[in-house]
Amino acid sequence: MNTELLYHTDSYTRNFNARVIAQREQAIALDRTAFYPGGGGQLADRGTVLCAGQGCIVTELYKDEAGTAVWHKLEGPLPAVGAEVEGALDWDFRYRMMRTHTALHILCGLIFRDFGAQVTGGQMYADRARMDFTLEQFDQGAIRAIEERANAAIHAALPIKVYVLPREEAFKIPDLIRTKINLLPPNIQSIRIVEIVGLDLQADGGTHVHDTSEVKGIKVIKTENKGKINKRLEIALVE
Ligand SMILES: [Zn+2]
Repeated sequence: MNTELLYHTDSYTRNFNARVIAQREQAIALDRTAFYPGGGGQLADRGTVLCAGQGCIVTELYKDEAGTAVWHKLEGPLPAVGAEVEGALDWDFRYRMMRTHTALHILCGLIFRDFGAQVTGGQMYADRARMDFTLEQFDQGAIRAIEERANAAIHAALPIKVYVLPREEAFKIPDLIRTKINLLPPNIQSIRIVEIVGLDLQADGGTHVHDTSEVKGIKVIKTENKGKINKRLEIALVE
């Protein structure tokens, strides 16, 4: 059972038609979806599934054990297998996720470029995001420099490219090896790449904006010392 991931080819799809291919408990699987089920630090989408004029709120999204179908847990009576439905994303929420996710890539790229620091983790929330990285020196000067340079990269409107490479080819790219691409399960043969041209390159399954200017701006809202060489940065979008 397979769900076509519309968000992988066009992250700007916010309404789509699909067919119910399976039902389980309070959830349906669709033949195609624009709903991001969550993962890689990005929160799952919110929205509704409409069937025969009835709108059902999506309460949970997840991939099944095989990882090939996306399940949409719904409130209310489930549409039957074979039914045509229309999905509608909560676009305000998703677009904020795309901007936040892209902002984390910008930080990841410039913190490595300017400070030689590796990112060790990250998480997005509805109103902010945090990122952990290996850095010893983390004073006010460094924090201000990171914020200023991130905003400079945002205003530079750097294009963001998304493409797929065969595993062997992706494994030859130093930027990807640095992000521990070798930890991907061996059965994954094609690698989806998200590249901020000139700044960052990652193997990534999430959703991002078309160019960095859409992020508009970021501010550092919190910093935390998580150990001698582990630092945490919290950011929020500015409008
Ligand atoms: Zn990403």
